[in-house]
Amino acid sequence: MTSANSSERKRLKGIAAAPGQAFAPAWRWKDAPLASTAPAPTGEGGADELERAIEHVKGRLSATTARLHAGGASAEAGILEAQALMLEDPALLEGARGLAMQGTPADVAVAETMAPFAAMLRASPDPVFQARAADVDDVVDQVRRALHGLSDVPVLPSQPSIVVARDLAPSQTAGLDRALVVGFATEQGTATAHTAILARALGLPAVVGIPGLLEAVADGQALLLDGDEGTLLVDPPAEAIRGHAGPAALAVDAEPAVTRDGRRVEVGSNAANLEDARRAAAAGADGIGLLRSEFLFLGLERLPTEDEQVAMLESVTAAMGSRPVILRTLDVGADKPLPALPQPPEANPALGVRGLRLQLLRRPDLLADQLRAALRVAAKHPLRLMFPMVSTLDEVRQAKAILAEAAKDVNAPGANGPRMPVGIMVEVPAAAIGADLLAREVDFFSIGTNDLTQYLFAADRTNPELGPLADSLHPAVLRMIDQVVKAAHEHRRWVGVCGEMASDLWAVPLLVGLGVDELSVLPPMVARIKATVRQLNAAECATVAAAALTLEGGEAVRHLLEQRHLEPGSLRRPTGR
Ligand code: PEP
Ligand code: MG
Repeated sequence: MTSANSSERKRLKGIAAAPGQAFAPAWRWKDAPLASTAPAPTGEGGADELERAIEHVKGRLSATTARLHAGGASAEAGILEAQALMLEDPALLEGARGLAMQGTPADVAVAETMAPFAAMLRASPDPVFQARAADVDDVVDQVRRALHGLSDVPVLPSQPSIVVARDLAPSQTAGLDRALVVGFATEQGTATAHTAILARALGLPAVVGIPGLLEAVADGQALLLDGDEGTLLVDPPAEAIRGHAGPAALAVDAEPAVTRDGRRVEVGSNAANLEDARRAAAAGADGIGLLRSEFLFLGLERLPTEDEQVAMLESVTAAMGSRPVILRTLDVGADKPLPALPQPPEANPALGVRGLRLQLLRRPDLLADQLRAALRVAAKHPLRLMFPMVSTLDEVRQAKAILAEAAKDVNAPGANGPRMPVGIMVEVPAAAIGADLLAREVDFFSIGTNDLTQYLFAADRTNPELGPLADSLHPAVLRMIDQVVKAAHEHRRWVGVCGEMASDLWAVPLLVGLGVDELSVLPPMVARIKATVRQLNAAECATVAAAALTLEGGEAVRHLLEQRHLEPGSLRRPTGR
């Protein structure tokens, strides 16, 4: 058998579910099979155990949800929140409890109660609803595992690997340890299933729906996974591996990202905690473009004092060395509740007292604490400040007045000394439209495309069903970004993008073309985005972006990118352009 023939035979084709490449050994997913366990209890005892198992699963879902929110993946967190809601449905609880009381083992009871719901979804003519049946099966499976005392934590590989599985449930995907799993391939699944959506949010390359996968791949075999093309090479030939030095080398790039025609684009990383900052520094990020401070305070029973905040910030700035860190002041409310700062319920939390509004209206003292801490750290480290959820000029002026007071309190350098740069998130349409006015008050803008898209389309970002509507590649979003960049540049201010759009390989040519100066991305995407920027010609991107502004919708924009060979598949081929 020639090597050409064997590599031909081992090229498996599936559905491209999440972009990126990975080269690593195969690791076949190992789950204790439910079938081999003893029957679950029945009667009163069974019903009680069922309730305990449900509470356990809810607790675990809420911990994973918090992690996803912390990474800015609120829509993806919504997937698991919807699963937790299923477990609060009184019809389920009463139905399953009733069956258990009548003698059905508790695990069978929960499966039987949920079965009609999953069957209804599967029978839907809409493929999106069909794919949701997997979420119901996943919930049932989790409860059954908890009932049998099977570990929540899967056995994981001992070295960075590509997971190979028949299918992965959304909760399993969200729980994958990114240090050990560099990509995954499954025999089942679709691109619209929640597993694929989560993989994209986690920056985990994935190919799903590969027929015959489990037959073709053994543990430890070398795999080259291509999440852009939807292919998996088993035992790839040397020429295919060239350029893929392995998972660790793929993820690191500390060199500046400069386009082919010489435009520098800063590529920073988003961070929610010290661990993220360390990952960002290791990945070679140019700085932290968004430090979501509310997540530094997650898990605390009370808000930290000024001194405690100084210590937290210093640990983050120390991790980044001389590279800048942009601290976003607390953005609490809506999809980011903070237990240490409970707020009364609201009818429309996303439109409610959140972000800067909360602090100006209710807790200016908290803002002052955070600003004093920031100023103290900024005296020694390159720390910048950013206010979230700004709608009006007046809000910025109020916040800056509190900052001026705080500067006096801590003897921060005055107007003539080195001043901590102050920016705002542009994530409310009123701020985007008023960018020319706001640009006079601040040093920089960072466009929060997650919220900007949500508010522009009036589409709740935590509702996965509305995901396709809130398309950040839609010309409505692009026009708004165009307007913000023009206003900022007219006032010689720089503009970043720190929403998930900055990590989207489809969006990068458009953002560069619109003149965005900085992209703040998910830590695992730093190297990938830098490599993409280097493939681009900024002048060509500007022409394409200008054309995109005139198109009818997101799909038309994607089509244009394909025609111009600026889609992810073309961009990663150095010779393909
Ligand atoms: C955004 O809205 O795009 C953003 C980056 O902020 P967050 O996701 O934390 O609301
Ligand atoms: Mg936001």
